[in-house]
Amino acid sequence: MLPKVLSKDRFADFVARLLGGGRVFAPVAKGPQFAFAEIAGPDEVSRIRMDYDISILPPKKLFMPQRETLLTFKDKGPEGVRAEVKSQPTAILGVHPYDLHAIATLDAAFSKGARDAYYLAKRGATTLIGLNVKAPANENQFAADMNAIDPPAGGYDLFLTDLGDRYYVEISTGAGEALADDDMFTPAGAGDHKGKRAYDAAKAAHFTRKLPYDTRYLPELLDVSYDSLIWEAAARRCFSCGTCTNVCPTCYCFDVLDKLSMDAHSGTRERIWDSCQLEGFAVVAGGENFREERPSRLRHRMFRKGKYIFERTGRTGCVGCGRCITHCVAKISILEAFQQIADQVGA
Ligand code: SF4
Ligand code: SF4
Repeated sequence: MLPKVLSKDRFADFVARLLGGGRVFAPVAKGPQFAFAEIAGPDEVSRIRMDYDISILPPKKLFMPQRETLLTFKDKGPEGVRAEVKSQPTAILGVHPYDLHAIATLDAAFSKGARDAYYLAKRGATTLIGLNVKAPANENQFAADMNAIDPPAGGYDLFLTDLGDRYYVEISTGAGEALADDDMFTPAGAGDHKGKRAYDAAKAAHFTRKLPYDTRYLPELLDVSYDSLIWEAAARRCFSCGTCTNVCPTCYCFDVLDKLSMDAHSGTRERIWDSCQLEGFAVVAGGENFREERPSRLRHRMFRKGKYIFERTGRTGCVGCGRCITHCVAKISILEAFQQIADQVGA
């Protein structure tokens, strides 16, 4: 589908059009940082910050809420069990390319094997409007190394690039085409294509690579570093707080809890985010904990991000957003770990 152009003068009309189709979430300021929040109506368009650098939590929270009811049960037997698969039409506006890649990874993870009806129902009801970004938010980002500075093929409905007074709009799906089928969108001309090229050239110059190797070698480099002392050295500083996994756009581990009501006959089954960095994460029946030590938990996270998720989904388990580095109180850096494993092999 050929690209179109949306004048910024019509941006409010565009948001109003999105609001006509359901809920709209977009980046807004939260103190000095940014968060994806619901835009309640056309009068809130001015809250939207299309110039945001990075959100505190990724948009994952909209498909996989921190706490979610899976089912309710009543009395004994299957008749009283009711699955709570819920979704409502939602548009997420302003998703950066690395977060679009993370959503594509979650899509793959939740579609493989036993399909996750809860995630997929929400995802299926969502329109993704991506937003190009010209430079890393901070020194912790390494999205270029993880091949995540351009949007994934088919991983968005519309993708906007800011060309000053207008957005260059790429269209990837039928839903995107339907949205752009309005007189506020005009066909992109030669000057617009040229503007987009200049934008992407500047982006390539700003997102420099920080790893000394191509990330297709990452799984193998991790394999040969399995017994390295770097995990222990980093883990000495780790508080096992789980912040790194909470802010990660590709982490999807959860715990399942049954809550019994006071009548002892009914209740709910809920899932809540879990973290492989917490001590109790790998406790199994009988009380055995097969990742009791901090270094083995930290190494497990790095292997999930650089190897295991890729092997399971065929997609990167880390998009180089840098959130886990920025928010880690101990300043433990996955980028540094990925750099160190290459140093070790070359030493
Ligand atoms: S955020 Fe940092 S300190 Fe907390 S668990 Fe993760 S690596 Fe450890
Ligand atoms: S591991 Fe860290 S850098 Fe990689 S996607 Fe998760 S939060 Fe971002």
